[in-house]
Amino acid sequence: MEEKKGKINFLKSQGPLVKFQQEYWQEVREAKERGKKICWMTTVAGHELPQAFDLVVVSPDVHAATCGAGKVGGRLCEVSETEGYPIDVCSYPRVDIGSALMGEETLSPVKPPPADIYFTVTNPCDTHAYWQQAIARHLKVPQIVIDQPYYHDQWTAEDYREALDYLTKQFEEATTFLEEFTGKRLDYDRLKEVATESYKTGELWKEAWELAKRVPAPLTGFDWLFFMFLMNPVRGRPETTKIMEMFVQELKERIAQNIPAMTDEKTRIFWDGIFCFFAVGEQISKLLSWGVNPILARYPCLWRDLYPKDPSNPMRSVAEVGLQPLGLWYGVRRKVEWLIEMVREYSLDGLLFQTTKTCVSFRNSIYNVLEETEKATGVPGVIVETDQVDERAYSSADFAAKLDAFLEIVEQRKGKR
Ligand code: SF4
Repeated sequence: MEEKKGKINFLKSQGPLVKFQQEYWQEVREAKERGKKICWMTTVAGHELPQAFDLVVVSPDVHAATCGAGKVGGRLCEVSETEGYPIDVCSYPRVDIGSALMGEETLSPVKPPPADIYFTVTNPCDTHAYWQQAIARHLKVPQIVIDQPYYHDQWTAEDYREALDYLTKQFEEATTFLEEFTGKRLDYDRLKEVATESYKTGELWKEAWELAKRVPAPLTGFDWLFFMFLMNPVRGRPETTKIMEMFVQELKERIAQNIPAMTDEKTRIFWDGIFCFFAVGEQISKLLSWGVNPILARYPCLWRDLYPKDPSNPMRSVAEVGLQPLGLWYGVRRKVEWLIEMVREYSLDGLLFQTTKTCVSFRNSIYNVLEETEKATGVPGVIVETDQVDERAYSSADFAAKLDAFLEIVEQRKGKR
């Protein structure tokens, strides 16, 4: 594939974002000195509840991804494997467990202190329960587990209501536990305040996804990856909303002034799966130099709906976040319908499924989804096996070769559709 010489216009709001991230990890490291307790909580659902108890929230998956970006994922996985965790366990837990086992000697670039409590929601997958249980037992700290019913295509409105009742009850029980653990009663107004802030941030994130439909796009697919942090452990803070506002405002200004993120956006693709955090730099320069924008990236796109929608009823609304259809648990038919719609809405030319062998959630039915979507839209796709944080499972040359061949097909098909 011929290399293009396009230019990237980086977003100015990335500066405040990076500063905020650094401040967040500093706050986490200093939390215990300031007498605060640390709650490690599954990303996705319910962060508002521990925040309302003034606990500092750390997401194990965000931490594992940060280790991956710091290129220490493989070595941390080896630490877990030496202790008997099999290589076919997802690399997120292997990294995170490896880091916990190393204690203060951890290779983690952000070196968060150990948890005082684990709060697990099994929304992304059941692995979360066992991964966090392993560390909670090692640290001898308590673990709350919220059992998440998996959303599926046949759900009726009644099923949904029952699932929401079931989740709300569990969050109420978790509240009782947290009241004992912290020695404080839940301040319901504070919960409402945090949920309201999350709602504002979430609405802005959703708006950004609408703005990304513009051709050429005001941002690249990799910008999602960086700004996704705002929807995770820091959701629910006014500072978070402020940076999200800057991000969305900048996208709007770019659209108004006709400034694309890439001066040479030739091809727009869907990127399924989790990014390879250790190879992001390499992949950015490769894709963008070819004029390819992975504008619809599934991982950050999951958060389009993952925030409390009705802060006036905060407990139920926080519980409901986990019930938002992640798209991961849809059946083949629904996944295909969604992707066909996305091909149209985001003007996609290709479908790249970057898949991790150990992640059942993301791998779930991708072969059928790719085949069916390709048949219905004429948009070609490819499946590339890699890993999100374990660089030992990644070959730069293999990835480049597959991508090259795939993009040749994309180019050929473009004229024929
Ligand atoms: S198996 Fe997949 S969904 Fe589960 S923790 Fe790993 S990457 Fe996340």
